[in-house]
Amino acid sequence: MKRVCIIGGGIIGLTMAYWINHFFPKYSIRIIEKEPALGAHASGRNSGVLHAGFYYNPDSLKAKFCIEGQDFLINYIKENKLSINPCGKLIVAKDDEELDRLRKLKERGTQNGVALEWCNEGRVSKIDPLVLTHKNALFSPTTSTINPIEVLTCLSADLESKGVRFNFKESFSSFKNNIVHTNKDTYETNLLINCAGTYAIDIAKQFNMAKNYQMLPFKGLYLMFEGENPLKTNVYPVPPKDAPFLGVHFTITVDNKLKIGPTATPALSYEHYKGVENIRLKELIPILGYETAMFVLNKCFFRNLAVEEILKCFKLYLAEQACKLTKGLDPKLFTKWSKPGIRAQLLDKRNLRLLDDFVVEKKENTLHILNAVSPAFTASFSFTRHIVEEYIV
Ligand SMILES: Cc1cc2nc3c(=O)[nH]c(=O)nc-3n(C[C@H](O)[C@H](O)[C@H](O)COP(=O)(O)OP(=O)(O)OC[C@H]3O[C@@H](n4cnc5c(N)ncnc54)[C@H](O)[C@@H]3O)c2cc1C
Repeated sequence: MKRVCIIGGGIIGLTMAYWINHFFPKYSIRIIEKEPALGAHASGRNSGVLHAGFYYNPDSLKAKFCIEGQDFLINYIKENKLSINPCGKLIVAKDDEELDRLRKLKERGTQNGVALEWCNEGRVSKIDPLVLTHKNALFSPTTSTINPIEVLTCLSADLESKGVRFNFKESFSSFKNNIVHTNKDTYETNLLINCAGTYAIDIAKQFNMAKNYQMLPFKGLYLMFEGENPLKTNVYPVPPKDAPFLGVHFTITVDNKLKIGPTATPALSYEHYKGVENIRLKELIPILGYETAMFVLNKCFFRNLAVEEILKCFKLYLAEQACKLTKGLDPKLFTKWSKPGIRAQLLDKRNLRLLDDFVVEKKENTLHILNAVSPAFTASFSFTRHIVEEYIV
């Protein structure tokens, strides 16, 4: 019998275990998670949006797996009677230049096979009377929101019932001669799968892999609306031209609360959620070095992004930016920060470019999932199914 050890109890680790168990029910699977519970990092700290898949380059893994992944997850959620808010999403333009880019987004979506509606202002008002756009907007009817922790909890119970073992509060240290060493124990293992989110790159480097990449964590802050949600759909701007983020937007949560975010604030360590907590020197030094280089050279418009993102750490500024997408929603009603998340964003050290797609690397009996950035939650089931079919025998 083969023994598989998965590092990381996020959505990628769990869905990976799901497919290994599906295709190889006799394999023994163990998930090692350093935290005491599921969803402590990106998988439990995201927007909970099931993306439709129109943003991504048609040749990318993101495009390939987002659409299929959204379908799979919606069915999984319905079968397991979990919560879902099928509130859709409007992408709005502020001027003719953005309208041009919005048209291109529509074309890309059509190329990717995503159902989208091109709306005039009258139609936009019918979908959501509070939303403001310049002439036209794009409506995605299949975009939905879910509760990520609920999905993780359901999936882990499902996996446990099939014999998958979870070792919480246990941290991967090394892998030598088919033995996994953790801070607590050792396990004989035929296949090691690294799904460690922001730490996946450091683990891959233990195997002399991913040498050209550096982790550049970006924090996503969220600001909550006080009172009853006045919007009917998620509202996004046309995404910025040269950063792999979607711009400040409104998300309606699964329980109909309204939030703004996430920002893309450069973070100083992989789990640097608040103040100076969790700033680790070993992570800070290279991050600061690369951020400084990107700032000076203004690579990926990093200088502009950094300045803008610092401003967005002020509640009123952030809320004012978002409220420009509406007809007069009061920014002062967004008062409380909620739990932030950190993107496991990789930088290519050779050209100082942010990697835009998922990365999978295999060496001997180890497999490494790198740069599992948004929409990796949406894409998770179809992405990991592909990995299992392609790389695991
Ligand atoms: C702010 C934000 C908003 C987002 N919004 C969306 C969205 O709306 N829709 C969408 O589809 N995607 C979204 N994403 C992306 C999505 O959340 C992530 O792509 C996805 O959760 C990545 O899952 P993961 O399993 O790779 O990582 P994680 O969830 O981070 O899991 C990795 C796990 O590995 C564990 N780990 C690390 N090192 C070790 C070790 N040495 N030993 C043991 N365990 C270890 C960590 O504790 C962690 O639990 C968003 C992400 C962020 C940050």
